[in-house]
Amino acid sequence: MLNKKTVDDLQVKGKRVLVRCDFNVPLQDGVITDENRITAALPTIKKLIADGGKVILCSHMGKPKGEAKPELSLAPVAKRLSELLEKEVVFAKDDNVVGENAKAAVAAMKDGDVVLLENTRYRKEETKNEENYSKELASLADVFVNDAFGTSHRAHCSTVGVTEFVEESAVGYLMEKEIEFLGNAVNNPERPFVAILGGSKVSDKINVINNLLEKVDTLIIGGGMAYTFAVAKGGKVGNSLLEEDKVPYALDMMKKAEEKGVKFLTPVDTVITQEFKNDTPFKTVPTGEIPDGWEGLDIGEETRKQFAEAIKGAKTVVWNGPMGVFEFENFAKGTKAVAEAMAEIDATTIIGGGDSAAAVNQLGFGDKMTHISTGGGASLEFLEGKELPGVVAVDDK
Ligand code: AMP
Repeated sequence: MLNKKTVDDLQVKGKRVLVRCDFNVPLQDGVITDENRITAALPTIKKLIADGGKVILCSHMGKPKGEAKPELSLAPVAKRLSELLEKEVVFAKDDNVVGENAKAAVAAMKDGDVVLLENTRYRKEETKNEENYSKELASLADVFVNDAFGTSHRAHCSTVGVTEFVEESAVGYLMEKEIEFLGNAVNNPERPFVAILGGSKVSDKINVINNLLEKVDTLIIGGGMAYTFAVAKGGKVGNSLLEEDKVPYALDMMKKAEEKGVKFLTPVDTVITQEFKNDTPFKTVPTGEIPDGWEGLDIGEETRKQFAEAIKGAKTVVWNGPMGVFEFENFAKGTKAVAEAMAEIDATTIIGGGDSAAAVNQLGFGDKMTHISTGGGASLEFLEGKELPGVVAVDDK
């Protein structure tokens, strides 16, 4: 159970409530191409409006590095949010975020009104968690709600610093839901518990593998990171992604799995090519027998079967990272097979954000999963067993 205050513990009538959301949505020429993160924030916003709070929203967008970059303005989000909420969202367009527009807009608010501040990262202090900016943000509000799971692994002014200068702080519904699903899956899973890791690098997932080996019944490794394990087993991987310096670590992890009685599955066959592109000849060979000049871009058919079989028997599945270069249709089969196997079973299925979330949605399996996390980096840190600073900073119950 989460021991933090939630929006249900707050009395917000007539109070100014600053809500940190994660509106970091993909934009193309000013058009939002995926609004999942906006819709995921609606339950908290609607609750605070219904309770008569003065709802002041804030978020970052991309990495403007302390500069007011117009292409990273939150203006398109204000517009879309107005439509989704069916009420005006006043956009406080200040390059310094807490400027004259924000102050005037907040002063004019009535209960249930909504204001959106400009990109919090237009200020360089944000990512350094500097006190002056935390105080400025807090000066707009009485109460603070953190609903930005995707940024909760970062100690910034708008996620951590601000909590020190408000009367009270709480987590929002999205944050609560993310922590509940990920927390239960990892710490209290219905067994068998299978975790699947993929993506390009072993080095990004060192602590995740180590921590999950303490918890899971089966650990499946696919994607680019699998070749380092293939080399650890004495195989040849040609030009495939390889982190030589992580081979001893891969050996340690395989030994740890054996000691713990964890089933450790790595690919037995691999789809290889001579060029890193979609339209190029490809063939399947045993993993560990990849010739020079060739590289693995996806797991092979036999591996897809073995992974699907392991998933089939599970009661809890957590997945982070694609099985191959799924951006190329010819090499998306492994990622698709895992998504399909997860979609078909009667189990708690959790997608840990980032590329795997994009792949699952793109392949049309989104509504078949129990939970798709809105935070790639944050969910990985959660799987590492780390405490998330944005959650720790919120008031205890
Ligand atoms: P990450 O950024 O570590 O989450 O990894 C995601 C990226 O890994 C995706 O862009 C995939 O295209 C890439 N990837 C997965 N498998 C492979 C592979 N076998 N070779 C090269 N890249 C891969």
